[in-house]
Amino acid sequence: MDPTPTPTRPPARTRIAPSPTGDPHVGTAYQSLFSYALAHQTGGRFLLRLEDTDQVRFDANSERRIFAALAWVHLLPDEGPEQGGPYAPYRQSERLPIYQAHAEQLIAAGHAYYCFCTPERLAAMRKEQEARKQPPRYDRHCLTLPPTEVQARLTAGERRVVRMLMPDEGVTSFHDVVRGEISFENRLLDDQVLMKSDGFPTYHLAVVVDDHLMGVTDVIRGEEWISSTPKHVLLYRYFGWELPTYAHTPLLLNDDRSKISKRKSPDKTRLEGFRERGFLPEALLNFLALLGWSHPDGQELFSLDEFIRVFSPARLLKAGSVFDMNKLIWMNGQYIRLLTVDELAMRLIPYTTHTAEEVRRVLPVLHDRLRLLSEFDDLAVIFFTEPVYDSALFSSKQFDAPALADHLAAARAWHADQPWPWEKEAWEAGIRQLAEERGFKKAGDLFMLLRVAVTGRKESPPLHDTMLLLGREATLARMDAALGVLRGA
Ligand code: GLU
Repeated sequence: MDPTPTPTRPPARTRIAPSPTGDPHVGTAYQSLFSYALAHQTGGRFLLRLEDTDQVRFDANSERRIFAALAWVHLLPDEGPEQGGPYAPYRQSERLPIYQAHAEQLIAAGHAYYCFCTPERLAAMRKEQEARKQPPRYDRHCLTLPPTEVQARLTAGERRVVRMLMPDEGVTSFHDVVRGEISFENRLLDDQVLMKSDGFPTYHLAVVVDDHLMGVTDVIRGEEWISSTPKHVLLYRYFGWELPTYAHTPLLLNDDRSKISKRKSPDKTRLEGFRERGFLPEALLNFLALLGWSHPDGQELFSLDEFIRVFSPARLLKAGSVFDMNKLIWMNGQYIRLLTVDELAMRLIPYTTHTAEEVRRVLPVLHDRLRLLSEFDDLAVIFFTEPVYDSALFSSKQFDAPALADHLAAARAWHADQPWPWEKEAWEAGIRQLAEERGFKKAGDLFMLLRVAVTGRKESPPLHDTMLLLGREATLARMDAALGVLRGA
């Protein structure tokens, strides 16, 4: 893609930093979209960093699945564990000495300290705080240990973590592109663990060190990280580094306005699920873009290229957005309509049991009705399999089964008399006239009788198109089969 740098700002380096902990999350595509757009719009780079510092939740397959899911939505990073790049490695588990060195730097400067407290002591402390209705915070027991004792315990290889020393007073503020100035009172900040006892950094240390070392200029991430940001801002200050620009995107919500989650709403969170159900990646991206941002011209449908052109972090929304599945399905249908029959046939191959040739043959009739690629076989079945009639579908308020059979027989005879191919307007006029002659109160009821006879269903693509595609003989044969059922009923 040809990036068009905006003259107003230097190239952006942006990143997506997923944790490989199971099913790739829709949030990864949602956040990537904005970061990708900003980087590409400014002639910058979009990078993927794997935040695999949680040994407990680590899932070895997750990394590959994240890459595949990002490739599916066309949001491949310019730098990352697969691509490489000037700031490799891009997996945090391969950068442990870097975090260790930075933690030691903070300790030397008096901004962090070793803590040897056992899990049991911390649990007892927390219990006591709870009983006294105090917020859970580390009581700084280890901050005051004499340096000689600290040294001795380190030498003895005792289990320890590194904690960040938070300021006791004042406020920490930062500017968020979407929300403006955000401030937190320092006295409410806990002395955050930076290095865990397993030698891995926590998210807070790793994200700051890596965003800085990897030259990230713009951090676009979910609103749920706002409360972590003051810790990050303090770390930047302790290291003497320049802050990136922060933009926090709105949460994605269920209909009841709770946050979407893997547990509660797997249909909305599992990125691979969208592919399995036959969403087009371009439709999903368009939908996700509108959950977090509004188009300056109020446009609803736009391509990724168009989005890259017009995206601006300043237009990100503030309030959480309800993930409206019906709107996404509607949008998917719109995108399906934009494809040519050949393109759509190609896209359908993984979703259908039919050959590309068969798909192309029936698509002209189904194109306008398809909303999800996975619906194709169900919609197409009427063209490939003889209907199995459910006699209940023939029921009519006006006529009993023998009368309906007579009407159908008359309609069959009428069709057999018409020159093939049945011409649309003459066909419709003919059926209406027949309905009138045979005393139908509503012509629609005769059309419905024919629809059920020809497709076995009350819903189908336009009936005339369906008949033409089936052909004269097959259509008449189905009417005969339906007559058999009606007469037997
Ligand atoms: N590893 C964090 C996540 O899983 C990254 C958050 C961030 O973008 O700073 O979302």
